[in-house]
Amino acid sequence: MNEIIYLIKFSLADGEQKVAEIIKTAFLKCDLLKHFSPNDLTAIKVHFGEDGNSSFLPSIIAKEVAKQLLAIETKPFVSDTNVLYKSRRDNGFDHLVLAGEHGFSLESVGVPIVIADGIIGKNEIEIKVELPLNKTVFLASDFVSSDSIVVVTHVTGHLLTGLGATIKNLGMGMASRKGKRRQHSVSKPHIKEARCTACGQCIKWCPKDAIFINEKTGKALIDDFKCIGCGECLAVCRQNAVGFNWDSTSSDLQKQMAEHAYGITSLKKGKICYLTFLVNMTKDCDCLKQEKKFILDDIGVLVGDDPVAIDQAVLDLTKQSDKKNMATIAYPKHDPTIQLAYGEKIGLGKRAYTLVEIN
Ligand code: SF4
Ligand code: SF4
Repeated sequence: MNEIIYLIKFSLADGEQKVAEIIKTAFLKCDLLKHFSPNDLTAIKVHFGEDGNSSFLPSIIAKEVAKQLLAIETKPFVSDTNVLYKSRRDNGFDHLVLAGEHGFSLESVGVPIVIADGIIGKNEIEIKVELPLNKTVFLASDFVSSDSIVVVTHVTGHLLTGLGATIKNLGMGMASRKGKRRQHSVSKPHIKEARCTACGQCIKWCPKDAIFINEKTGKALIDDFKCIGCGECLAVCRQNAVGFNWDSTSSDLQKQMAEHAYGITSLKKGKICYLTFLVNMTKDCDCLKQEKKFILDDIGVLVGDDPVAIDQAVLDLTKQSDKKNMATIAYPKHDPTIQLAYGEKIGLGKRAYTLVEIN
C-alpha cells in the first residue's frame, strides 16, 4: 500500500492566524497524534536561519507545533545542530543568541530552545547502521535521546544536492559535527595562508596531529595523509583560515545524507513525523545569507510519516515541465532524485505515495 501524504494548501501571506489553523489541522486530521505519548521529550527540529537570511520558516510555525504538543502533554523543545563552517551557528552560544534574534526563544515560542549537539558540536552518539557507506553514523545526542520528533522542514534548492528538503533536514540537520564532516568527507580541509596567524588553535585541537607550522611559510599546514576529515580545525579557527572544498560530488553527498537520515529514523520508528513546508521557496538553503527572492509561489505543507515519499511529493508538486521542478530550477546540473532512489534502496522510505488534500 502506498504511503499517505497529506497536503494542506496555504501561503505564508495568509497570516499568522492561518498558520495556527494549518498546524492544528495537521495534528488533528493527518494522523499525527499517534506518534506521541504524554511526558515524551519531543524534539521539534527546525532551522533557525543563518545570520542575514530572511526566508527561513518563521518561528510562529514552531510555536504552533509546540502548542499542539503541549496540549497532548508532551514536553517539547525546539532544536537544531551546529554547523561545520564559520558562522554564528558554529557554536551553541552564538547559535542560541541568533535563534533568539530570529524569534526562537522560550518567551516567543513557549518552550525551551536547545542546540542538540551542545556548545561546540561534540555532544554526539554513535549509532550502528551497517549500510554501504557507513557502519555507524554520528548524530546529535539530544535528537537521539528524545522520545519523539516532529521534523519541520523548509523546502529550498541546494548548491550541492539540488534539493534541500526532508532528507537533508534529517541527515545533515541531525548529525553532529563529526557526522556532518563524514558526509562531506570526499574533500579535506586546507589552510588559507593569507589569513593564518599561526595561533596554533587548530594544532591543539586536531585529534590526529595532522597540522603543523610550516617552517618555510610560518603558517599552519595540513598533512593530508594523517587528516581524517573530522572538521575540528574548521570550527576552532577564529581567523576563517581553514578552507574546505565543498565540491564533493553531489551523488556521494546525497547518499551520505540518506544514510545519516536512516540513522535517526531507525531509532524512532512510529515516533517521528514530518511537516514539510513548500513556502518561501528559494534557490539556496537557509544556511546562506540571502534576501527573500522566491523561485516559486507558496504551495502549502506536506504532512506524513515517510521522508522519501514526502520529498518525492515535493518534486512532483513543484513540477513545472517534464524537465523542471523546484530543485532543477535552482540547480539544473544536479539530479535531486539520487537521494530519493538511494533512500528507498536502503529502507529509509518509499517513493510511491497517495496524495490526500485536506482543507
Ligand atoms: S587556528 Fe587558524 S589561524 Fe590559528 S594556526 Fe590554525 S589555521 Fe592558522
Ligand atoms: S579535519 Fe580533523 S584531522 Fe584533519 S586537519 Fe582538521 S582537525 Fe586534523
